[in-house]
Amino acid sequence: MFKVLSVLVHEHDFRLSMLAVVVCLCASLTAFRLYSRMTGARGLVRGAWLLLTSLVAGSGVWAAHFLAMLAYTPGLNTGFSSTGTIASLMVAVAFMGGGFYASILVDDERSNQIAGGLLIGIGISAMHYTGMSAFVTEGRIEWEPAIIAASVILGIAGATGSLMLVGRGRRLWQQASAGVIFALGVSAMHYTGMGAITIVPDASVVVPAKLMSVGVMTFAVASITGLIILGGLGAMLIESQTTRSALERIRTLANAAYEGIVVIQNGKINDANSAFCELAGAPLADLVGRPLLSGILTFDDELQAADERREAHLQPVGEATSIPVEVFSRLMDDGARVETSGLTVLAIRDLRERRSAEEKIRYLAEHDGLTGLPNRHALQRRLAAALDRVEASGESLSVVCIDLDHFKEANDLHGHVAGDQVLVEAARRLQATISGPSFAARLGGDEFVVVQITDQDQPGAAAELAGQLLETLNSATVFEGQDLAMGASLGVSLYPDDGRTAEALLTNADMALYRAKDSGRGAYRFFKREMDESIRERRSLARELRQAIADEDLIVHYQPLARASDGEVCGFEALVRWKHAVRGMIPPLDFIPVAEESGLIAPLGEWVLRRACADAAAWDKPLRIAVNLSPLQLNNPALPTLVHEVLIQTGLSPSRLELEITESALFKDYQRALDNLRRLKALGVRIAMDDFGTGFSSLSTLQSFPFDKIKVDKSFVENIHRDERATVIVRAVLGLGRSLNIPVVAEGVETDEQREFLRGEHCAELQGYAIGRPAPAETLGVWTAGEPPVEVKVRARTASKSAESKTPARRTRAA
Ligand code: C2E
Ligand code: CA
Ligand code: CA
Repeated sequence: MFKVLSVLVHEHDFRLSMLAVVVCLCASLTAFRLYSRMTGARGLVRGAWLLLTSLVAGSGVWAAHFLAMLAYTPGLNTGFSSTGTIASLMVAVAFMGGGFYASILVDDERSNQIAGGLLIGIGISAMHYTGMSAFVTEGRIEWEPAIIAASVILGIAGATGSLMLVGRGRRLWQQASAGVIFALGVSAMHYTGMGAITIVPDASVVVPAKLMSVGVMTFAVASITGLIILGGLGAMLIESQTTRSALERIRTLANAAYEGIVVIQNGKINDANSAFCELAGAPLADLVGRPLLSGILTFDDELQAADERREAHLQPVGEATSIPVEVFSRLMDDGARVETSGLTVLAIRDLRERRSAEEKIRYLAEHDGLTGLPNRHALQRRLAAALDRVEASGESLSVVCIDLDHFKEANDLHGHVAGDQVLVEAARRLQATISGPSFAARLGGDEFVVVQITDQDQPGAAAELAGQLLETLNSATVFEGQDLAMGASLGVSLYPDDGRTAEALLTNADMALYRAKDSGRGAYRFFKREMDESIRERRSLARELRQAIADEDLIVHYQPLARASDGEVCGFEALVRWKHAVRGMIPPLDFIPVAEESGLIAPLGEWVLRRACADAAAWDKPLRIAVNLSPLQLNNPALPTLVHEVLIQTGLSPSRLELEITESALFKDYQRALDNLRRLKALGVRIAMDDFGTGFSSLSTLQSFPFDKIKVDKSFVENIHRDERATVIVRAVLGLGRSLNIPVVAEGVETDEQREFLRGEHCAELQGYAIGRPAPAETLGVWTAGEPPVEVKVRARTASKSAESKTPARRTRAA
């Protein structure tokens, strides 16, 4: 130790020594600043920073050594061999490169830092002793191995210590202290190394002539090193400048973004755009440094891999409610710059607007737009949930299907606004009658459902509710100063007796409703097992019929009507049949009632009307065609328009069309039916009263409207001569027709006896098997064709019913 100190004090030029130390310190400090850049960079950029760091550190250490050697004045002539001096510079740079590289092979690894320190420490010593080998003086140099070893250890210690201190070198104090330690290590190594030599003067040693003076050499070495250091600092400056302007651009862009953008590092907010600050409700300065995930942002689900879209809630500073957001996170690491390493960027999208739109859509999808009640779709879901609830709670549940009785009337008579009012009013009354957790829903049209959830016993609770519902729905509502009649039919099913699923309960309540309507409306019915079978069958028949109408599996047969006076066929009645794939030909009495119940009568009747008019239009002779109208058709205000349209389309003359209606059709809604009949008549269409005698107040009906024809029901005709009363009735009807000047037709004429009687009583027309059976359109040629050859006519007539052979028509023709 003493030796080292004496070397320093006595054998060195103090100012040059100080310069050496300053150069060493400057180089070390710069090198560790550059080093921090290198640790933050990747790939090629990292290689460039490594090169710069090694150059600055290597040349700095070398320059310090060289300057210290210039300061060394052992009192003898000294000099340097150039090869050794240059070699020592290279050794320094090379070992620095290797050492710094080793230290960062794995980030922040102690063992790497030690390995790097070892390499650099050895490098400093190697540089020193290579440099010393280039040192020439007038004497022999003797070495003291122990001190040499100590010098090497000091160098290694300085280098290792500085590397461990600097770590990744993010902070300035890390860089500065590492630089100081490094410089100390280098100095300690150097001066200890100098203490290891003893020069034994020897005049025979020749010192090479100096090329340059010490002053010039000092200046050259110091300035070259200074330039290298400046180069390193300049590179750093340029780099941070470009980074700053790039960041500035990014910030401008980020602030223009609609979404919130926030940069986090180690979970803490590093930076954010103005949209994020607005969302978070605080200025950027307040946000920076705060942890993002605890307090501000909470993810809705468990953590998943980065780079993914996730939903979260953002809690604005000082506000009670959080904002639903969507978060896209991305590791922002361009692989080159320390500023980006390990940073994560999160784009945060405010979902409030989208959520409220979604909510609106969900509401619309689950509610009926008119009444605001849950719709069919929502009912299924809510009923299923209600079943789960009562299953668990032990409460009781009933399903009430409701059908408004006078809805169609309000709709047809007073328009859709009135119809809507009836529905809205009904919904309001339903809701006023029930209380949570029971609820009401609208299935569509005038069908509603109430699901009752109660802790009272069944069926008592359901019966009480049904009674209340009937009562509340039974009073009229006022529309534009007029009373609109209201009323309802109800069907009730109970859980679990009548079904355990939503579907079964609804189906069975609907069946009970069906029964309630059947038994005269304005009542409620509980579901009963027996209802199941017959209704199920009618339902399936209705389903099949719907398909049959669509597939045109129906056909129309035509039955002739003949003038009683001469037997001449003057028209046909269209009678529909269903060609069923399994059951064969189904007669209309088996499916017309089903069609009426299910509303299928409308499309069915329209189809028959079109078919019959089209067929009749194709006949050569302008014979009349009679079409039956069901009560439902007659009560449809659109009927006259339909008939008009069919006449135009088929080209059939209105006077050839005869529409047959029954009394019951008139009584459904007297005014409307009459109104329709008048409009039909105005088209030029004829109207016949069908099944006359089976209804109630036949005479007043006949007086209320100018019918074109009366058809005496076949039940009277078949009893002529068998039952005195029937004969009297037929006579009376014929007399009535005469007095009202309305022609009468007798239906179901099967025998010659009946025919002769009717002709004698001046019945106008006859219809029945005695004239001809209903038959397909293709077989009617004999009656509808123009003037076919006589033989054909004769043969055709012979083939038809024998009962007709004695009619005057036949005789005239044959003659
Ligand atoms: P309706 O209008 O009284 O038709 C006459 C029915 O008597 C027909 O029965 C016909 O085949 C039958 N009939 C004709 N002559 C005789 C006879 O001499 N003896 C006997 N015993 N019966 C005879 P169908 O075709 O079974 O029709 C039954 C009812 O179905 C019709 O009674 C009519 O009310 C209804 N219907 C038929 N086609 C249609 C239609 O297209 N629309 C509507 N709404 N109802 C129809
Ligand atoms: Ca008829
Ligand atoms: Ca009839």
